[in-house]
Amino acid sequence: MDATSTSLDRRRRAGAPAEAEDSPPAAGRPDLDLDVVAAPSGHRLWAALRTPLGATAAGLLGLVLLTALLAPLLWTGPAEAIDTSNILAGPSAQHWIGTDALGRDLFSRVLVATRLSVLLALAATGIAVGVGLILGSAPVLLGPTAGQAVAWLIGVAVAFPGLLLALFFAVIFGASQTGAVCAIGLAGAPSFARLCHTMIAGVMGRDFVAAARVGGIGRGRVLIRHVLPNIAEPLVVQATMGAGSVLLSFAGLSFLGLGVKAPAYDWGRLMNEGLSGIFIHPLAALGPGLAVVLAGLAFNLTGETAARSLGLAAQGGFVSLARPQRPARSAGPAPAAVPSTDEPARTVLTVEGLEVAFPGPAGPLRPVRGVSFSLAAGQALGLVGESGSGKSLTALAVAQLIEPPGQVEAKRLRFAGTDLGALGPRAQRHLLGTSLAMVFQDPMTSLNPTMRVGSQLAEVSRQHYGLRRRAAWRRAVERLAAVRIDQSERRARQYPHEFSGGMRQRAMIGMGVMGTPRLIIADEPTTALDVTVQQQVLDLLRSIRRQDQVALWLISHDVSVVAEVCDRVMVMYAGRIVEELPIERLRHDARHPYTRLLVAAVPDMTTDLTAPLPTIPGRPVEVGQTPPGCAFAPRCPLAGALCRSSDPELEPDGADGRVACWRAGAALPGSEPAEAMP
Ligand code: SF4
Repeated sequence: MDATSTSLDRRRRAGAPAEAEDSPPAAGRPDLDLDVVAAPSGHRLWAALRTPLGATAAGLLGLVLLTALLAPLLWTGPAEAIDTSNILAGPSAQHWIGTDALGRDLFSRVLVATRLSVLLALAATGIAVGVGLILGSAPVLLGPTAGQAVAWLIGVAVAFPGLLLALFFAVIFGASQTGAVCAIGLAGAPSFARLCHTMIAGVMGRDFVAAARVGGIGRGRVLIRHVLPNIAEPLVVQATMGAGSVLLSFAGLSFLGLGVKAPAYDWGRLMNEGLSGIFIHPLAALGPGLAVVLAGLAFNLTGETAARSLGLAAQGGFVSLARPQRPARSAGPAPAAVPSTDEPARTVLTVEGLEVAFPGPAGPLRPVRGVSFSLAAGQALGLVGESGSGKSLTALAVAQLIEPPGQVEAKRLRFAGTDLGALGPRAQRHLLGTSLAMVFQDPMTSLNPTMRVGSQLAEVSRQHYGLRRRAAWRRAVERLAAVRIDQSERRARQYPHEFSGGMRQRAMIGMGVMGTPRLIIADEPTTALDVTVQQQVLDLLRSIRRQDQVALWLISHDVSVVAEVCDRVMVMYAGRIVEELPIERLRHDARHPYTRLLVAAVPDMTTDLTAPLPTIPGRPVEVGQTPPGCAFAPRCPLAGALCRSSDPELEPDGADGRVACWRAGAALPGSEPAEAMP
């Protein structure tokens, strides 16, 4: 547990304000960027439009689009009427920026060229976005090896100068309008591919995607239903900005004679025609050039305004979705199938020798090292430890949610009587989707912000039980009611941002019980909630467990939360289980020094709150810097020479516990001897 973390008891005593269960999320609560993206506010857009930047963007874009729409209808006549008596005339009241070599009015031609210029730019942008989206999605759909190859190719293509790429494609496709559209579209695709790849990877790491994957939803469906809707808005914003650059590129190709051909004309071609007489009649080239600049500015400013209104930061030409990365699901390297031999009938989960490794600069990093335990139906097992001890990674590994380059190995990993490593991807998805439920820490990110809550729950029934849409919806409403969400019919039609934190967490639990779960993994399910809501969520987990004999694996840094719900508790330090014991023994009869220090840092009803709470000296061990011998030795008040040279194994301790310590049960300095403890 973090020395700075606040326990449930401490918060109760501090009188932390409780969140009214059905109240909307508290004003001013920091929203995650992507949630803002997914649930844009009309107010925010309106506010952005009322800023000088927004008003300028809206005015310019409106002008460009209106001109593109109306100019060919109003000014095609003067734009194409040849007047040999007025060849290369200068500016006048009749011809504001003069005439061209055939006496045609240049101002009218610039206006009429708006439609073609904008349409071609939008077509090229569409190709860039479409191809970029396909390439950016490929790593998700193709799996790790082919996906990495595509990601590498994208990186190489992005490093290639865009203009050279456009010229290269223009030569391949030929000097024509269509060829130029394809050339510029393909030249812009790598940037969008990288953007899409980055955004998709960010969304794939979100809890609601992990929940969907645990629910057995395949990668393609996850991409379409859960990921793409969440990147749509930032992608449109980026495409709007990109259209300005594409407009410029297209004008460049036409200017070089590689784009629009006579008799059609766009701004680039008009610039080309005006170039020959630029010294005697500069406005012939400057007029269309100015139009390119204004239109480019209109798109760029519009994109910038939209980005600001959506709470996105445009950085270096890319929209930033600041999201922490977390490993997403993977089947992981499948350990050899281990036949079940000595597994008791009620055992739901058996984990033996579980290891998780990630590549590091100086060899593999092993944040989880040889974890073994089992969990029976109806049992509640807690897993406690400080941040970074490997608790969540252990849970993700069990739920098959570690993505390459992370690697999971286990001597035995059996769930619901089946060896997970021996199952094919589809069978594994079905088993986990119907029998395993996961509840994540942050209720803000656990549900897809772009889908109605009821639809997210119904998806599980449709996927695994083949229910039709209406029946699946009815079951979703029932499940929401079962997890004590009032007015479940109405609530099912709402989006996650309309739920309070506690309701979201209960909806997550509701999603977990859409099937017939045999195990619920709750990873810090109450950390982000207020005290009263915490209690309701814990009560709900407890009642589901008792009612349906579901095994509960509760992961928390908060010893008091685990003590309240669980039968047994495991204590994790530096990627290893260092002690396992019945919950009744936790407070007064723990044997490992780390467990006892953890417990001492959490006040109970007898704690003198006027005195500072004890803390564990030092800092947790960084992954990859585990010392030889016992990993806790640098912080342990009992550490001796043996501790620093040899790592103790997790051994049975008495009739009902396991401990990994050379001096298990020895008295800590300044405390009563362990033997004297009640
Ligand atoms: S093995 Fe030694 S250093 Fe490790 S916890 Fe036990 S007494 Fe402390």
